[in-house]
Amino acid sequence: MFASLSDRLSATFKSLRGKGRLSEADIETTVSQIRRALLDADVAVPAVRAFTSAVRERATSAEVSQALNPAQQIVKIVNEQLIEILGGESRELAFAKHPPTVIMLAGLQGAGKTTLAGKLGKWLKAEGHTPLLVASDLQRPNAVTQLEVVGGQAGVPVWAPEPGNGVGNPIEVARSGVAHAREKYYDVVVVDTAGRLGVDAELMQQAADIRDAVNPDEILFVVDAMIGQDAVTTAQAFADGVGFTGVVLSKLDGDARGGAALSIRTVTGKPVLFASTGEKLTDFERFHPDRMASRILD
Ligand code: GDP
Repeated sequence: MFASLSDRLSATFKSLRGKGRLSEADIETTVSQIRRALLDADVAVPAVRAFTSAVRERATSAEVSQALNPAQQIVKIVNEQLIEILGGESRELAFAKHPPTVIMLAGLQGAGKTTLAGKLGKWLKAEGHTPLLVASDLQRPNAVTQLEVVGGQAGVPVWAPEPGNGVGNPIEVARSGVAHAREKYYDVVVVDTAGRLGVDAELMQQAADIRDAVNPDEILFVVDAMIGQDAVTTAQAFADGVGFTGVVLSKLDGDARGGAALSIRTVTGKPVLFASTGEKLTDFERFHPDRMASRILD
């Protein structure tokens, strides 16, 4: 995903090698190379601005280490700023004091929500939880079956609409799914919801109604990292329309330029909790800003 950005940054670092001390002009050149590399990787302008001004400030201030030469110093600063822009510390999923914990998934159609529900189910089970997946995406013809398939692969039960528990009514399915979990002692409920190809008012209202019906402990906004700058506008629309507590970056295995991954935290102020890195249920990991930064700088 970050191949081009990685190459550009390492070329910048290489050009500093062997320099004894960085002049102001060296720092300006370096900062402007970093700025261009980030913009070309589709990182949103506010995130680029925050990043480059921090690098300039730190490179200019007497943050001198005897052990590091100027090139190493810049690598260190860029690494730390990458971690910062990616959210600093990784954040754990928030579990309810009184189970079940309710996790609602929101995002555009095709973002990877249903796949993620299976991945989360599998991961939660491995962590010792007893999850239940709830099929509240009644928009996409195949979504319920798809959730049943991934639930089957993950060995996690699926609550699907049936006569009596809300056929055709995603809000009722969500509500009855959570009630079922409470009754049967499932301790985490993952609610899959419908997306549209683009943001629309009806979609937002439905998601907001599901939210109000089940009062989630976490609302995870799932975003396809391959959609570049659009990720930022989509995130803002979901933040305004539904609100969310965390982000999942999906399709991080793609060869897009990765800017969404680097912008989303700055733009939304919400932490990235998980990353999806492929179509298989095992292509899933907790998101660690420091590991992601080292992958970019590798
Ligand atoms: P939903 O509409 O948000 O529920 O999206 P889906 O879960 O149906 O995913 C849409 C498509 O993206 C499917 O073909 C998935 O197999 C694929 N997909 C989901 N997550 C990933 C991922 O992390 N990497 C890749 N390469 N494909 C993914």
